[in-house]
Amino acid sequence: MKSIAFAMSEHKLKEMLVFYNKKLCVNENMGYSPSAKKSRLVVHAWKQLGYPIIIKKIRALSIEEIAVAHDYNYVKGILNTKIKNGFGNKSLNVAKSLPWTTGSFFCAAVYAYVHKRNTFSPTSGFHHAGYNYANGFCTFCGLTIAAILLKRQCKAQHIGILDLDSHSGDGTTDTIYKTNSENFITHYSLGDYDIQKHNNTEWLENLPNLLRHTFAHCDLLFYQAGVDCHEDDPEVYSGHFTTEQMYMRDKLVYSTCSELKIPIVTNLAGGYQKPIQKIIDLHNLTAKAFQDS
Ligand SMILES: [Zn+2]
Repeated sequence: MKSIAFAMSEHKLKEMLVFYNKKLCVNENMGYSPSAKKSRLVVHAWKQLGYPIIIKKIRALSIEEIAVAHDYNYVKGILNTKIKNGFGNKSLNVAKSLPWTTGSFFCAAVYAYVHKRNTFSPTSGFHHAGYNYANGFCTFCGLTIAAILLKRQCKAQHIGILDLDSHSGDGTTDTIYKTNSENFITHYSLGDYDIQKHNNTEWLENLPNLLRHTFAHCDLLFYQAGVDCHEDDPEVYSGHFTTEQMYMRDKLVYSTCSELKIPIVTNLAGGYQKPIQKIIDLHNLTAKAFQDS
């Protein structure tokens, strides 16, 4: 992976509001996906870069809150460890972390909406979870949950979901559809398109226009800044971006939404390169792009 220099920029560094506590981490080995332990490593790495990281308080969501986007008995079964989670096991530690991962994202979304500020939720494991099923390391769709709660509790009118993870946000689509939320959630998923080496430069050049045309009417944008669309990722499907293109992707998202005056809630989503430092390095680029935009 080619490195991008982390020279401190001339202008004043921006505060990064990170909605985190250690309860959203799972410190047991979850096999192939590193997502359960990634939060802590990424927050630590962002601090190491010298960026002003402000850790903001989060709360756990209740069963009723999670069930705004899921079948109630499914939610209960997952939290009682009667149903297999997105990792394909019935780990109590995973079950305990889920109200906190979804809670982190929701708290970051409320703050972004109320204060018109960009926020960060160092979470993953949302977009393959459907209305009543877990899939692909995902158990609850924290994106759809936060959008529905934001509408009900904060009177948000329209929420955008920009999912630039490499894979289709099929769980997000399913939960939006099953809860009749299409009228106030606009969802774009990179994984629904076949973006390869031959067309990824064009896709990236068009990204600002895509954002203007798709999300200009939104109060808030949820941004899944997944890094499994990197060309070296073993699970890459759509994207195949170089390291420089990953940085450009994030910079275009932050600068275009700043022009549109839409606050962004960023989370981490997928990444499967080994060793895990390669994934952390790409999430560091997201922080750098935010600072440079
Ligand atoms: Zn993915």
